[in-house]
Amino acid sequence: MNRPPAVLWIAVVLLLLVPTAAGRLLLDLAGGLLLTLLALPLILSGLGWIGWKLLQSRLIICSACGATGFKGSPVCGVCGTPFAAGVDGPGASSVASTPASDCTIDVIAQDVDSDS
Ligand SMILES: [Zn+2]
Repeated sequence: MNRPPAVLWIAVVLLLLVPTAAGRLLLDLAGGLLLTLLALPLILSGLGWIGWKLLQSRLIICSACGATGFKGSPVCGVCGTPFAAGVDGPGASSVASTPASDCTIDVIAQDVDSDS
């Protein structure tokens, strides 16, 4: 029962080693299949990333409840708060009152005793 597979493998190896048209066709086919298998996940993930970015650009986040809705709708679908123009993105409601460039943080230098 072990003979037929060995003969088959030898035939395939001979087909690949001896430069014949069938061997070249087999090698080209294997190379194309390998290339397709390697490139397909990259292409699919790129398309998925583009689709995700496109979807993200059309979404708006409610400033009252944080639910996600489409930009075309006038009010939030969850809580009914009207979407204000220019308020989108996470954390926009808390930052809108005071810009970060206007805030100052006072830092006071203190000596720390090292030999205590
Ligand atoms: Zn809401």
